[in-house]
Amino acid sequence: MKNRILKSLSSGIELVCPFPCLACGVEPGDGKNLFCGKCLSKLSVISPPRCPGCGGTLDGVLEYCTKCLEFEKRPWNGAFALFNLRGAGQDLVYAFKFYGRPEMARPFASLAHELLKNEDLHFDVIIPVPLHWSRCFTRGYNQASLFCAELSRLMEVKCVSALRRVKRTRRQALLDREQRRKNPAGAFALKNGIDLCGKTILLVDDVMTTGATLTAAAGTFENAGIKALYTLVIGRR
Ligand SMILES: [Zn+2]
Ligand SMILES: [Zn+2]
Repeated sequence: MKNRILKSLSSGIELVCPFPCLACGVEPGDGKNLFCGKCLSKLSVISPPRCPGCGGTLDGVLEYCTKCLEFEKRPWNGAFALFNLRGAGQDLVYAFKFYGRPEMARPFASLAHELLKNEDLHFDVIIPVPLHWSRCFTRGYNQASLFCAELSRLMEVKCVSALRRVKRTRRQALLDREQRRKNPAGAFALKNGIDLCGKTILLVDDVMTTGATLTAAAGTFENAGIKALYTLVIGRR
């Protein structure tokens, strides 16, 4: 009862003064905890056809984008990214990652939900790429997990923290390209007792740069008998 009263109270408040956009804090957001149209238009949102390697727009007639062609074949069936990491999009992701804005998980998840709704895919489980505990501790939250939890709610697909970090890797942003490629190898393991046999997995991280972190995480499913693997990131560099 108390809950119902609170709920109708909060939707009443929303009607009177819509929640401000989480990006600019000025314009009313398009729904509770979302971005306004102005801010959305500033993001370089990626539209299809998508590169199955990184989720970026395909820029030629080849199966993969020019960036992905430099790498070995990606160990997944397809990839999705919400937007390219530059300008306003980069600022938002940095706010979410480093500057204590966990509430950003909601608008990002809403965008991801919209994107995935248009794909003819069924996912059995959403799995976040884990952060090393000490990093999670200093930051107070794991942004990939928060994003996954929101997405799980919207998509009605369960989210499972199936992976654990087995070694602490150096922050990717501090490394050069070659170091980045090697840095995360062997960084993850599948937790005991997780059965992914026959499942289609959506593996989620906040950002993809070279794809080395996602590749390392994907490696843990090698002998798990999964049906298919897709990756999703908020921002793609
Ligand atoms: Zn805005
Ligand atoms: Zn690509």
